[in-house]
Amino acid sequence: MSVDATALERWLRAFADGIAAHADELTRLDSAIGDADHGANMARGTAAVVAKLDTSGGPAVLLKQAGMTLVSTVGGASGPLYGTFFLRMAGAAGDADALDAAALAAALRAGVDGVVARGKAGPGDKTMLDALLPALDALDAAVAADPGDLAGALRAAADAAAAGRDATVPMQARKGRASYLGERSIGHQDPGATSAALLLETAAATLP
Ligand code: ADP
Ligand code: MG
Repeated sequence: MSVDATALERWLRAFADGIAAHADELTRLDSAIGDADHGANMARGTAAVVAKLDTSGGPAVLLKQAGMTLVSTVGGASGPLYGTFFLRMAGAAGDADALDAAALAAALRAGVDGVVARGKAGPGDKTMLDALLPALDALDAAVAADPGDLAGALRAAADAAAAGRDATVPMQARKGRASYLGERSIGHQDPGATSAALLLETAAATLP
């Protein structure tokens, strides 16, 4: 089982649909510990990505276009971070026409490494990384155990992302706007971890 540009297009559309369906929730979460724009930011960015989808150049061209669109259309911290994620994925995809489970996991890992490099956050800082990092750890472990079961591996990654999202509630934010609140950031779910869990959930639903 491998992931080609058509599968990646399905994923990006599903992510945009998921963001649109959850935009109000994302904004509500961001109103508690930020500036109430995460839903609007992500909805605008992912809609722009969908408007430019073109699979004719293969996976890397598709992912690079998505990344550049997110960087240029999303104000706020999340645009450059999600944009970097897809740009680094594109770099890792190289000129492959399709990615097998190991190559997909490596590309997603490159994307997450890009978010770390760009945002300088780590585990426990109450950011999107608290969903992304456990998801990639689960994905790598599942792919190593059974490279033939991409669907099962992505399901494990999506479940880990959701658990990571939920685990942001008791954390105190150490990065981004929410960190300005100090201890008052405790007790709220991180908006970026919530959108990142949607990214993995839609991957599990559409890529295999
Ligand atoms: P802004 O904070 O600029 O208003 P958004 O509201 O769109 O941008 O996105 C906020 C989300 O971005 C946070 O919930 C958090 O998950 C994520 N975030 C903020 N700073 C960082 C960082 N340095 N590294 C990773 N993620 C971050
Ligand atoms: Mg915000």
